[in-house]
Amino acid sequence: MQLSEKLSILAESAKYDVSCSSSGSRRKNTPGGIGNAAAAGICHSWSDDGRCISLLKILMTNDCLYDCAYCVNRRSNDIPRASFTPRELADLTIAFYLRNYIEGLFLSAAIRHSPDKTMEDMVEMLRLLREEHRFNGYIHVKAIPGADPLLIAQAGRLADRMSVNIELPSERSLHLLAPQKKRESILLPMNQIRQGILQRREEKRQHRKAPVFVPAGQSTQLMIGASPETDRQILRLSQGLYQKFHMKRVYYSAYMAVNTSSLLPVPGGPPPTLREHRLYQADWLLRFYHFDAEELLHDEAPQLDLLLDPKCMWALRNPEIFPVEINRADYQILLRIPGIGPTSARRIISSRRYGPLTYDTLKRTGAVLKRARYFITCQGKYAGGRDFNPRRIHSLLTAEETFAQQGYQGIQLSMEDLLHQETPAAPFSGGLKDLLGGTITGSTGENARRSTEEKLPSVILSRFHDIPSVTSAIMSPLPATDSPPPASGPALKSPLLLPTKGGALSHEGFSL
Ligand code: SF4
Repeated sequence: MQLSEKLSILAESAKYDVSCSSSGSRRKNTPGGIGNAAAAGICHSWSDDGRCISLLKILMTNDCLYDCAYCVNRRSNDIPRASFTPRELADLTIAFYLRNYIEGLFLSAAIRHSPDKTMEDMVEMLRLLREEHRFNGYIHVKAIPGADPLLIAQAGRLADRMSVNIELPSERSLHLLAPQKKRESILLPMNQIRQGILQRREEKRQHRKAPVFVPAGQSTQLMIGASPETDRQILRLSQGLYQKFHMKRVYYSAYMAVNTSSLLPVPGGPPPTLREHRLYQADWLLRFYHFDAEELLHDEAPQLDLLLDPKCMWALRNPEIFPVEINRADYQILLRIPGIGPTSARRIISSRRYGPLTYDTLKRTGAVLKRARYFITCQGKYAGGRDFNPRRIHSLLTAEETFAQQGYQGIQLSMEDLLHQETPAAPFSGGLKDLLGGTITGSTGENARRSTEEKLPSVILSRFHDIPSVTSAIMSPLPATDSPPPASGPALKSPLLLPTKGGALSHEGFSL
């Protein structure tokens, strides 16, 4: 088979793996060598569905022994098969690198012959690149579950980043959909990589030139939507992986239906990319905002809200904390405010030394006031409307989010503008009424629609009618004022009272 044909088959087969970020490596070029992971990292491109793809993301082979139900490369699929020899792939990588096509390599493989044979070929390919070609560019390599620990250790000394994909978020799903893979065969190499990284850190303290071991850390990937696990289960698993295996990243991959199986969602539907996006946002909160998975989701509300980012969702479920006075809150509380990140929280604290902040000065800290203003006061003043009303804020934020999702961000008069119209106070009875300041007579149905049409400029209305989900978000009745906020589930306790990271590392369905 021609090399170009192999390339086309094996690059196509690799496209479902999303864990291809290159961040974190400091490997520099050496005299006489080529490539530099620290300076340039790896090139990325974006696929149609928004996935980040490195330019040479390739499988060593797609000729698989296993038959995982969700995988395009499974043994029972009738697809073109190809395999590179270690030398072919090493030479190809260098040829691409020298032509400036790529900055690094993302290497994975199906399991051909045996896990050991596959890993052996990958290690040999890495050895050729590093030792013969003296390639110092970024390399991310997959550890093959079930491969000999000696081979994993060799790969770890040659690669910048390694990953073992969990894919399925529970042992039950693993058993059903990938029966040839075992929990232990996934967790053992993860643990080995973690130990190797820790050991290398220790050696480095004693010998400056101690050999490197996976300097950019390890990552893993979870598939979203192929199996019935909830977002809560997935986030709890991710949290356990960060805590126990010191993962650099957990990637979430919206399931794309490529096979037909009674165990899988029906092919043809769009991949759940919005759910994937929300999980990335929640994952960010775990890693950088000191949130705990249990705070974000719980038994009664196990799924993330697709219309609201997880931080807003959490804030609206904990109304007793808000609005927060920006001039008094400590760092941990500032971090909990939607629209305020670690950088703006630090800037707020240091700016307060020179005097109390106003909304104008707050803007200069980088806080996103578009969201934050609903959740804060500045010197006692609230700029999020008449008062802090979680149900009204929920309606506003979800309507705005729906606009954003459907490409209506450029709308000239937003729902916020309508909120700020001066209107007489009236008893609160429904979403639309609340949004419009309490002046309409009907809260839902035809009355509300007619009243809306009197108040909303026709240009906006025509857009609302084009967007069923926005219309329903606005028209849907809200619970009575003394009911809990709209997102389901009981209000959570103050974040400061909640258990923090470091709790049990087990995850229902996948004990780590
Ligand atoms: S082992 Fe990997 S390549 Fe083979 S069928 Fe399973 S997921 Fe696909």
